Amino acid sequence: MLNKTKISDEILYDIVKRELERQEKNIEMIASESTVPIEIMELSGSIFTNKTLEGYPGHRFQAGSHIADELELLANKRGKELYGCDHINIQPYSGSTANYAVYAAILEKDDKVMSLSLDQGGHLSHGSKANFMSRFFHFDHYSIDKETEQIDYDGLEKKAKEFKPKLIITGGSAYPRLIDFKRIKEIADEVKASFMVDMAHFSGLVAAEVIPSPVPYADFVTSSTTKTLGGPRAGFIMCKEEFAKKLDKGVFPGSLGSMHLTTMAAKCWLFEYAKTEKFRNIMRQIPKNAKTLAKELENYGFRIVSGGTDTHIVLVDVRNKNITGKEFDDALDSVGITVNKNQIPFDPASPLITSGVRIGLTSTTQRGLKEDDIKEIARIMNDVAENINDEEYLKKIKLQTEELISKFPLYSEEDRKEII
Ligand SMILES: *Cc1c(COP(=O)(O)O)cnc(C)c1O
Repeated sequence: MLNKTKISDEILYDIVKRELERQEKNIEMIASESTVPIEIMELSGSIFTNKTLEGYPGHRFQAGSHIADELELLANKRGKELYGCDHINIQPYSGSTANYAVYAAILEKDDKVMSLSLDQGGHLSHGSKANFMSRFFHFDHYSIDKETEQIDYDGLEKKAKEFKPKLIITGGSAYPRLIDFKRIKEIADEVKASFMVDMAHFSGLVAAEVIPSPVPYADFVTSSTTKTLGGPRAGFIMCKEEFAKKLDKGVFPGSLGSMHLTTMAAKCWLFEYAKTEKFRNIMRQIPKNAKTLAKELENYGFRIVSGGTDTHIVLVDVRNKNITGKEFDDALDSVGITVNKNQIPFDPASPLITSGVRIGLTSTTQRGLKEDDIKEIARIMNDVAENINDEEYLKKIKLQTEELISKFPLYSEEDRKEII
């Protein structure tokens, strides 16, 4: 794929090559990452990049669209089959812009929105103070229950009745448990709010029917395609038929410009791939691996937030080991295990330090690691935590992680030649 770049820009070629090597040698456990099939890279760089197009099939603003129309209609058809939704829009560039498009579709300035706050597992684009959406809409947040460390549904109901939001959002980036979509839909109906589920993290697990789908309950379902779904850097939105027109307007011209036909082609491929047994088997293995990691880490004395996981995410409170999330994140990185520091619910530590780490099992599972390999990773993680200041010892651990991951090539020899 980089044959020409290799000649025209050696410096840049070298950067890409070193990134490939880094990914190959690392045990990648950042929950938002995945290892994409090579077709995703091929299509993301395809000839469609030359085409500018706005609007929808049959209503375009540029000529020469009939083949792109075919692509968009096919992708929509495949996406609708995969999730069983009434309507889909696959134009969003990412999960964040998918959310902004829903806001553009149904909200007016100063409208009220309720979501899970960022520091309790939500997402920046759900109205965090740091995100510019908070300047246009009035966000309030429901919380996690202190005991169960799962969503406090009674609290959510109480707040919804007081706050009377126009939109209720659920979903998040550091929430390891199943969400009771039915319950939140009932609350939304009671207060006459629309209901949006942001399934950015778990859309792959939903596609493979490993966890329940929000589609029957939510008015809008948004997603990124880069997390468990393991696709290109993009997003999409589904909605009930009654919102279809509004949604399409919210996407274009409401919030986005010309389509990225390249990633759209990759999404089209992905929606079909996600129906295969190969994809489904990987998805089935992910929560098994995540549960194994959670259990093992607990046995080593770490505290697992909410006591476990139903998805690909394990949120770990590291304070029992007398370390911070940042220290653990840095030390794991130094031995070749990539995770991210993350606040735990009601975290006394700042977002830059944190009391926890978020661990995701998507990439490792895609590489073929099973329960026994995950147990070995848990052992290594504990070894790192127990020897966090012993640099010489950590260097030895790095050899162990390289040895372990070398048995699971990131790409086959044949694919690797295509990539670089
Ligand atoms: C990652 C994430 C997003 C953003 O997706 P991008 O594709 O990175 O823009 C939105 N919502 C949630 C819940 C996420 O976890």
